[in-house]
Amino acid sequence: MTGVRWRDDEEAVPRDLVIGVDVGGTTVKAALLDSAGLEYGRSERPTPRHLGTDAVIATIISAIVELQTRVPEAARLRAVGLVVPGVVEAQQGIAVYAANIGWRELPLRQIVAEAVGLPVVLDHDVRAAGLAELEWGAGRGLHEVLFVALGTGVAAAVITRGEAYAGATGRAGELGHLPVFPEGERCACGQRGCTETYASGAALSRRYSAASGISDLPAEDVISRAAAGDPVAQGIFSDAITALGRALVSYVLLMDPEVILIGGGMGASGTALLQPLSREVQGGLAWRPAPTITNGKFAGDAGRRGAGLLAWRALQESKL
Ligand SMILES: [Zn+2]
Repeated sequence: MTGVRWRDDEEAVPRDLVIGVDVGGTTVKAALLDSAGLEYGRSERPTPRHLGTDAVIATIISAIVELQTRVPEAARLRAVGLVVPGVVEAQQGIAVYAANIGWRELPLRQIVAEAVGLPVVLDHDVRAAGLAELEWGAGRGLHEVLFVALGTGVAAAVITRGEAYAGATGRAGELGHLPVFPEGERCACGQRGCTETYASGAALSRRYSAASGISDLPAEDVISRAAAGDPVAQGIFSDAITALGRALVSYVLLMDPEVILIGGGMGASGTALLQPLSREVQGGLAWRPAPTITNGKFAGDAGRRGAGLLAWRALQESKL
């Protein structure tokens, strides 16, 4: 896999490792990482969100415990980086709210730290993923980057001056809820015409199902059907590109990024997505060039890598 290097030989074992954990709505992904971002083991397990918050917490803890047992004898496990969706109060270590998991005001950092006996840093999944791309991936050496996680939902990491920007209340980067179609479809958030209502993976599947009667088709398949000439898929994909393009045009005009990186599950559609999206963004900008729009390097691994990166940063800044 691109960007992943495995080192099982004892000579190469580093002294210190951290565990990065990315809690998604579908999967809890964890990895053992050294300070250069090299991976020494990983685990994945389904997120049992239908069983409630306690079951999700138990899954997070068991993912960490599993990797604890795989730390080479010569190495020392220093900390855990834990990233979650929704609204996160990083300083206090509180998972404030996540619509797709269901917790509210949960002191997750303390709960996990006490359970695993390691210092824990808690942060936001997409901001962490963006930082991983900036430090170790496709955004290396850059300072002004928009990282867009295009998956079940649409979210973004605003990176400016080389740092992820969280905003006054931790809610910056909600690209998915920029209203792009006035009087458009109602979004789950309460607004109308949000980007996410048209351009998320869930939206592509839902809208394709409503128009064709074929349900549960993954977004990637809607995109490939569009490329193959299916007119229903083409209409829905075109709406997604228009919505996302408008959101990105607004971002470019406000923030002037060097590059826009597309990650998340739909990023795997590659040029079938990137080409029409780049055309749309350039078409929406009359007087200035569009920045390059390209894929992130780590695809679905960016979150756990970013979680590990934040653990390293906290260690280096003596915050743990
Ligand atoms: Zn919305």
